[in-house]
Amino acid sequence: MSASGALLSTVEPRPRPNWYLLSYDPTNVFARILRGEVPADVLHEDDHCLAFRDVAPQAPTHFLVIPKREIASLSDAGPEDAGLLGHLLVTAAKVARDLGIAEGGSRVVINDGAGAGQTVFHLHVHVLAGRPLTWPPG
Ligand code: AMP
Repeated sequence: MSASGALLSTVEPRPRPNWYLLSYDPTNVFARILRGEVPADVLHEDDHCLAFRDVAPQAPTHFLVIPKREIASLSDAGPEDAGLLGHLLVTAAKVARDLGIAEGGSRVVINDGAGAGQTVFHLHVHVLAGRPLTWPPG
């Protein structure tokens, strides 16, 4: 299933208060997925977010949930994003139920910044399941 039809024109640009840490680069791969320029194995789409399988899964089930809003990282989220952030988590839970992984448990991760392993600077929630997940993570 492709993400075509998930147009970046539906992504909300944001005003830029001076406390934003990062400028948003619209050429990042997740923006390109939202524009339908890069294919994705889509699991869920609605007006506010897209969920798709990670191209390099770190567990038997590994998917991502991304907002249709230009937020580079969690640290760039502000009070106006509170509802959207909640929606990303509710969607992660719904997709996990739909995939039948909720009962076995899953790990929900947001890598916030390069120092925490973030490589794609469009906010995303990872959901991993299907193998034992140790704590603390590496
Ligand atoms: P992070 O390191 O937290 O920024 O996570 C970025 C994730 O995006 C990694 O797990 C990558 O495997 C994944 N990724 C990168 N490009 C794609 C793509 N085209 N489709 C799906 N997942 C991708």
